[in-house]
Amino acid sequence: MLSVHTSPLEQPGTGDAGGMNVYISQTATEMARRGINVEVFTRATSSDQPPVAELAPGVLVRHVPAGPFEPLGRDELPAQLCAFTSGVLRTEAFHEPGYYDVIHSHYWLSGQVGWLARDRWGVPLVHTAHTLAKVKNAALADGDTPEPRTRVIGEEQIVAEADRLVANTAVEARELVGLYGAAPQAVHTVSPGVDLDRFTPGSKAAARAELGLPADAVILAFAGRIQPLKAPDVLLHAAAAMLRRDPSLADRLVVLIVGGPSGSGLEQPQALKELAVTLGIERQTRFLPPQPGPALVRVYRAADVVAVPSYNESFGLVAVEAQACGTPVVAAEVGGLPVAVAHGVSGLLVPTHRARDWAGALASVALRPERHGELAANAVAHARRFSWRRTTDALLDAYASASVSFGALRTEVAV
Ligand code: UDP
Repeated sequence: MLSVHTSPLEQPGTGDAGGMNVYISQTATEMARRGINVEVFTRATSSDQPPVAELAPGVLVRHVPAGPFEPLGRDELPAQLCAFTSGVLRTEAFHEPGYYDVIHSHYWLSGQVGWLARDRWGVPLVHTAHTLAKVKNAALADGDTPEPRTRVIGEEQIVAEADRLVANTAVEARELVGLYGAAPQAVHTVSPGVDLDRFTPGSKAAARAELGLPADAVILAFAGRIQPLKAPDVLLHAAAAMLRRDPSLADRLVVLIVGGPSGSGLEQPQALKELAVTLGIERQTRFLPPQPGPALVRVYRAADVVAVPSYNESFGLVAVEAQACGTPVVAAEVGGLPVAVAHGVSGLLVPTHRARDWAGALASVALRPERHGELAANAVAHARRFSWRRTTDALLDAYASASVSFGALRTEVAV
């Protein structure tokens, strides 16, 4: 697996680490459990990192030196792709030919590396975009920076070169075909999963006590990377609107924001805190740094509603994790979120990003105990439809079908 710009060993929820890191670490671990060895190549960001680290039995992470031993912005990474590719090719050259069977690249920067390695090694390339520049640019938050044309071109090249493309949802599969000209038969739709052993329902009271939050509070939570695309500001505006409508909530409402700055959000890391002050909800808003799995479970269990107000989301792991913990989700009706959340069953989908619409949706779930109970029960059942085992089954199918068509292609070329 190629994961140039972020390592599955990093804590997700800030910077470049998010759902893709979880995806790689979960699917690689599941493959290894089935006897398939996985090596994940990622760029070394510190001289303290060992050249090779074990993520789980059967899963190695290789830190490839490419550029300075420090984090680089995504705009700086394309200049390091030659160095990275050279590191990947040299690693393989230490082995007998035929050491790797399949390359799975994650995100377009890795796809650029994978395309060359595929030709050198004579093995198929399977690519997952995770996000697409054309889709992101069509749904930008006000004032957010568009993805550059170089990325669009890079993605188009990978779509043309990869043997198989993995899309998170049918919507993304259509985007690959319609916007990028992918061959429909090359696209596999594979739902991401959720760790159903970790994300389980549990005592709300205990979770609140552990977080130091009052048992009778009305808690709205957001978890994820803090950047305009994820729109945590929409939640703050909505909370302020709820308070205007019902001032008696002032002593009970808590807005919990979990995560750290990322992407264009890094330019103004304090912006969300300043917004809470401007909106007069500083007292109701709590910020927590990115939380590792078990602590995140506490956050989901403590919340009455988890909000996912993103302008775009190719799937939305947070939405499924929260539901697996028995918490209804109010999400924007964009990208993969209508798959992750069953509207009116396990949560609500909001077609706009207007504060009053969000305030109405959040209140209708958080402040109506009967409805909340129903949605919470359905949320657990809905989340059970997803699992990393199933994701891995489908990825292995994609690998197998890539191998067959790659083999056929090689025979054709040889003839
Ligand atoms: N996450 C985490 N700790 C945090 C916030 C988020 O571990 O404090 C994880 C979360 O469990 C989820 C991932 O980060 O698996 C975010 O994935 P999602 O698909 O929601 O968003 P993405 O980061 O891919 O945009």
